[in-house]
Amino acid sequence: MMTGRMLTEHEALEKILAEVQPLAVETRPLRNAAGRFAAVDLAATVASPPFDNSAMDGFALAFGGAEAAAGANFQIIGTQAAGPDAGFALADGQAVRIFTGAPLPAGTTGVAMQEDTRIDGDAVVLSDACSRDEFIRRAGADLCRGQHILSRGERLNPQRLALLASQGRATVDVFAAPRVAILSTGDELVPAGQPLGAGQIYESNGVLLAALVEASGASVADVRSVHDDPVALEVAMRLALEAADVLILSGGVSVGERDFVKPALHQLGVRTNFWRVAIKPGKPFLFGRSGTGASVFGLPGNPVSSFVTFLLFVRPALLRMMGAADVSPVTQTVRTEATLKNGDPRPHYVRGRVEAGVFHPQGRQESHALFGLSRSDALVRVAPGTEIPAGAMVAAIAC
Ligand code: AMP
Ligand code: MG
Repeated sequence: MMTGRMLTEHEALEKILAEVQPLAVETRPLRNAAGRFAAVDLAATVASPPFDNSAMDGFALAFGGAEAAAGANFQIIGTQAAGPDAGFALADGQAVRIFTGAPLPAGTTGVAMQEDTRIDGDAVVLSDACSRDEFIRRAGADLCRGQHILSRGERLNPQRLALLASQGRATVDVFAAPRVAILSTGDELVPAGQPLGAGQIYESNGVLLAALVEASGASVADVRSVHDDPVALEVAMRLALEAADVLILSGGVSVGERDFVKPALHQLGVRTNFWRVAIKPGKPFLFGRSGTGASVFGLPGNPVSSFVTFLLFVRPALLRMMGAADVSPVTQTVRTEATLKNGDPRPHYVRGRVEAGVFHPQGRQESHALFGLSRSDALVRVAPGTEIPAGAMVAAIAC
């Protein structure tokens, strides 16, 4: 149903998240799973380390008591490298030359690191004391078999992928990544490489949105531009909807006579859920669903508005489709260098840069001002009709 009232940004996000669901589960090789979200809970099947081993290059020693004193010497009976266990067993007063990660000989009390020893014939002499259990990594000390290692909805970052690889896994079950089509609208838009005529600007939202989609972990199926022509727009939108789970449109969602997006969506049977949100920048913002279940986002054409509405509304939807347990943006508490004043009845997302815990607004806070945005890495929300004094602590949304 078409809703005329302007929604708050919280209402808008709730409506979007109520409509989108995680996509299908697929099994992917670990090498192709980075950035995806786990579709399963996993427990360790292999302990870490799997066997007692040496933490240093040095000598495995057998001695009685709490430590072997400096000056003590041990007879070297062999060498144990990382790899197959040679099966040494140490008696008190004996040593085995050992390397990092090598299995400990039976009877080892402690490992003396190479730098704390010297060789005297077929013996090793300690130049520093070696205490019981020193430089020994015990089996299961890092991770036990059966211990929980991954939760459904957690992102597979490089460190989690490495843990799965260390478990001997080759694949992991993840949610599919949405295929996203991006369509920029506007008669004034010119592609790179062409001369700029009177009244024309270079098209930049295609690059902006494609990069944002990829940074979210979703995949870009198509990026193109179309003129403000109802027929061309409808054809381009029909093709995009056939090939994608998500269609992001930029421009043409305002109330001007040249804003053809809404009528074209109607023609294609896309149900508009809402089309205005009370935020600055970004008031004209449309969300709808096609008959086949694709999500459609109509973003305002102004580049800063496109950026802010993507971060607040599109990114969480993409993350939800990818199965993320947490779709909220990363925020940090910082001190604002300048007074942030919002006389508008809509909340204002101010663009700025965080350096050493201090937020510095960047450039003109206007929706076309791409230069200031290019210097920014954070947004601060200023509530309608309020002023945040310089020096106050604020929540900065990382971007
Ligand atoms: P619209 O939302 O179509 O009314 O566009 C609002 C403003 O954004 C206008 O100044 C457009 O020229 C500009 N704009 C629209 N689309 C793009 C785009 N793809 N790249 C850069 N600027 C754009
Ligand atoms: Mg336009």
